[in-house]
Amino acid sequence: MSSSLVTSPWFRFAFPLMLLAAMWYGMNNVIVLTRANSGLAGGLPYALFLSSIAIAYIFKQSRMAMVACVMLISYWIIQSRLQSPLYTGSTLLELSILSFLLPVACLLSYAFKNGDLLSRAFFVYLIFLALFGIWAYITVDYYVSGGFGSLKDTFLFSVPEISKLPFILVLYLLAMIGVTGIFVLTKNRIMDVFIYTAVLTSAMTFIFFQLQYVSSTMFSLSGALMMLYLISASYEMAFNDQLTQLPGRHALDIDMRSPGRKFAIAMVDIDHFKSFNDSYGHDTGDDVLKLVASRIRLIKGKARIYRYGGEEFTILFKGKTAAQAYDYLEAVRKDIEQYDLVIRDANSRPKDDKFGASKRSDKRSRSVNITISIGVCDSSLERNAKEAIKLADEALYKAKKGGRNRIEVAS
Ligand code: GH3
Ligand code: MG
Ligand code: MG
Repeated sequence: MSSSLVTSPWFRFAFPLMLLAAMWYGMNNVIVLTRANSGLAGGLPYALFLSSIAIAYIFKQSRMAMVACVMLISYWIIQSRLQSPLYTGSTLLELSILSFLLPVACLLSYAFKNGDLLSRAFFVYLIFLALFGIWAYITVDYYVSGGFGSLKDTFLFSVPEISKLPFILVLYLLAMIGVTGIFVLTKNRIMDVFIYTAVLTSAMTFIFFQLQYVSSTMFSLSGALMMLYLISASYEMAFNDQLTQLPGRHALDIDMRSPGRKFAIAMVDIDHFKSFNDSYGHDTGDDVLKLVASRIRLIKGKARIYRYGGEEFTILFKGKTAAQAYDYLEAVRKDIEQYDLVIRDANSRPKDDKFGASKRSDKRSRSVNITISIGVCDSSLERNAKEAIKLADEALYKAKKGGRNRIEVAS
């Protein structure tokens, strides 16, 4: 279920580059293929971007839809206005403006909240795009009427051995690939990969614009990847718990069907969480739940973590016995016990101290500790994973009975 390789930042960074390299290598074939099916190949990006927007609409991914709109409009401009030789009329200037504005428009989508497509945010974004269009129109119009006479020989000079695009824009596009690539490597959200792919493929189009069929090839690649990312974002939405971002119960149920021959499974439950909520409020409880999830996520031993429900988590160790998993679980238990939670609320005074004495108490923040109890069972006791969960739950009950903040192994 959780596919750590394909969602790792380096893979996400390198995957579009690998596809680009493969395409570059086979560019001659691509050209032959495109020439034979020119109607289809030219229309393919439209179909892919429109489908992306439709999926984004269904799954309320307005930011991805914004980027897909930018790509759609850009492709339309390339097809309808930029097919004449670069050095005639205003073609080069129009290409330059487009290659400047496309990354800006993509990055602008970060400024908006993700959500419904039929929203004010999405509408405002479209207005921004329209303003970009008006600015471009005025600039081109001024140029055509004789303004900025020697633009090509000064500011927009190019180095034809590298690219016909003005050299400054080549540098700019490379910098934009770098910036969006760094977002992928450091933040690694699907949105980052989405924008990075759009900027990367369009930059390749602009830089190598003289290559035949480069725009339909690159924009098709971009559209296909966008569909892939949108589907994986929708998949995450369906299978991950919104609060903790861990895989939820549905993901667990699916993984339980094929846990392997040897596995250990642990049930984790936060101690006295009800009184924690009662003392500090449900919102603080939610924050703590997120924090506990992020600490459990750090567990070693190649474990998979799920939010089972409420304040309970499930940890699956494939290929390990309960004895082998024990040390990893113990490390998590200790880590959470020792972690000082800083509660920021002047008025909240704990009504009881079940979940740990407050260590520090000033007007604005206090630091408390919580603990977890764990029950663990392995496949030597029960081969059926669902039954093993029940036994782990019984062991957890024993751990609670035995005083909490401890691990109990099913026997
Ligand atoms: P024990 O040590 O026996 O586990 O005590 P407990 O209070 O943790 O156990 P119990 O199962 O009685 O209560 C669980 C509480 O967890 C109930 C609810 O207030 C809280 N809880 C469950 N899900 C959430 C959630 O999503 N957010 C918050 N804030 N609280 C939750
Ligand atoms: Mg519970
Ligand atoms: Mg509990």
